[in-house]
Amino acid sequence: MRADQRLFAPQAFGLRPSRPKAPLRVTNHAATTTTNCDWAAKLASQERRAKIDKAYFREGLLQEKVNGKGRCLTCERRCEIAEGGLGWCRTRQNEGGTLYTLIYGNVSSLSANPIEKKPLYHFYPGSVALTAGSWSCNFNCPWCQNWDISKSPPRPGRYTSPEDFIAETARRDCQGTSISFNEPTLSLEWSLDVFKLARQRGLYNTYVTNGYMTPEALELLIEAGLDAMNVDIKGDAAAVKKHCGTDVEKIWRNCREAKKAGVHIEVTTLVIPTVNDDEEVLQGIARRVREELGADTPWHCSGYYPAYKFTAPPTPLQTLERAHDIGGEEGLDFVYLGNVVGHRAESLACENTYCPGCGELLVRRWGLSVVRYRLKDNKCPRCRRTIPVIVGR
Ligand code: SF4
Ligand SMILES: [Zn+2]
Repeated sequence: MRADQRLFAPQAFGLRPSRPKAPLRVTNHAATTTTNCDWAAKLASQERRAKIDKAYFREGLLQEKVNGKGRCLTCERRCEIAEGGLGWCRTRQNEGGTLYTLIYGNVSSLSANPIEKKPLYHFYPGSVALTAGSWSCNFNCPWCQNWDISKSPPRPGRYTSPEDFIAETARRDCQGTSISFNEPTLSLEWSLDVFKLARQRGLYNTYVTNGYMTPEALELLIEAGLDAMNVDIKGDAAAVKKHCGTDVEKIWRNCREAKKAGVHIEVTTLVIPTVNDDEEVLQGIARRVREELGADTPWHCSGYYPAYKFTAPPTPLQTLERAHDIGGEEGLDFVYLGNVVGHRAESLACENTYCPGCGELLVRRWGLSVVRYRLKDNKCPRCRRTIPVIVGR
């Protein structure tokens, strides 16, 4: 997840972020200073906490029984979870042989964001998406920019029903929804309910994701009304295995399948020194975007800043410029740089969209705003080439 995505944390709701639960320690040691009153208060608070947590419980939609355990089929980790245990991401628990999500409607962060912030540049430009995140992740990335929520087990956020969330889109004048900030796949059940309601109201639905859902989960999302995804491709197979503990091929597969099903796809690579800044690695990603998703798929190369456990220095500007050039050399029509606001915007297509046919400026962006939009009926005003930008239903 990327640093620039999240504006409001739990404080936005007037809540203080809660600390992870500490187990209630029971002691009969004579020297204890705990009074009955303290115990009563602690127990009452535990009960309250338990009630809050139960509000987020829902039976997991994708699961099967195997070897006396529950296997979660939400993401490609496919955890086998024993009675009482948690999955790798700690958002799924086996209770009585059934797997439950612990984060249904548990919103850690909420924000009305320009769609350009996802980033999605070729999808409803200039629109605003009400964006929610929850807790935890199914990846291990040590550079996570949103580590305060993604590396945390579920904590009490603000319970937000799908109906409340959709009502909020109207209050904030949003044209669509986005589930982001932490990995949205972990909120599969809530996402499906949100997406179905959003569709009924004529809103679009988006995911900003590491793309590691199972094909079953992806199918459910598409059926429910997923319109667009920005998917992180974090490196080649070796880097993704080493740093994230996952298989990049599953992510490419999901990009291909989603695209085939009509979901708009944009790809982001956070360019990180020593992880994926090698020319061959960047060439490999750009080539696969073109071959597997099409030359007109936007590729966003973003600048990294040290965060969480990763201390490598920020991505040098020259590296990002080289990544931009590599995208073009590999035949991609639309390569954008992120986290470098205003850079070369006057002369090169770093934030702006230029016609791949004649070079005409088509969309000028500044930061997260569209400041000039020159496409008419999706056509370049100079050479009439069709530019694939989804502008609305
Ligand atoms: S969603 Fe969580 S519990 Fe389920 S397979 Fe993925 S990591 Fe495991
Ligand atoms: Zn043109």
